[in-house]
Amino acid sequence: MNLILMGLPGAGKGTQAEKITKTYAVPHISTGDMFRSAIKEGTTLGKKAKAFMDEGNLVPDEVTIGIVEERLQKDDCKDGFLLDGFPRTIAQAEALDALLSSMNKRIDHVLHIDVPEENLVERLTGRRICPSCGATYHVLYNPPKEEGKCDNDNSELIQRDDDQPETVKNRLAVNIKQTQPLLDFYQKQGYLKTINGNQDINDVFADIQAILG
Ligand code: AMP
Repeated sequence: MNLILMGLPGAGKGTQAEKITKTYAVPHISTGDMFRSAIKEGTTLGKKAKAFMDEGNLVPDEVTIGIVEERLQKDDCKDGFLLDGFPRTIAQAEALDALLSSMNKRIDHVLHIDVPEENLVERLTGRRICPSCGATYHVLYNPPKEEGKCDNDNSELIQRDDDQPETVKNRLAVNIKQTQPLLDFYQKQGYLKTINGNQDINDVFADIQAILG
């Protein structure tokens, strides 16, 4: 099952990705997570990506395409994968098509979680992350049992640098401009499945399961 998960920042991609990967046993490939761990480890890739991410801008295509190509060739992707946050540009989508056909594979579904823009700012600025296990929370809509602490491992929750209010606005603007051509691209190819993301987390997942079977 070769899947792409799409949606603006804050649409709930991370939450649904966790459910999809558990239920369907495919690896979760998030370019954002890959960049964040590269930054944490201080690698060359991390140094290249950091300046772009801190400004809420996209990391250049050649850097991003390179890390995805490398990742999709790993053994755990042989029966499927869930791409999250990639592709973000038409150049990335075309590079992905070329890579998949060279591996005799193709995309099965592009799952688009659709949430109105006005709800996204509130969702993003209220988001909190566990730096150890990656679990995500929301101060209002999905709070941890104990304020500021991860339910899984009791780590102190953090706010991502790019979830700060000043960065969120630019990040959304960049994303909206970039997303529409990709939705059109996959609509034309017949892969696009749009899901209402403005409902309870479990109802969003039920809609996804109805598509994936
Ligand atoms: P995300 O966690 O998907 O919201 O990504 C966080 C940041 O990582 C983005 O704002 C970009 O700076 C960078 N990034 C993640 N995925 C991509 C991509 N496919 N192309 C370019 N930049 C990306």
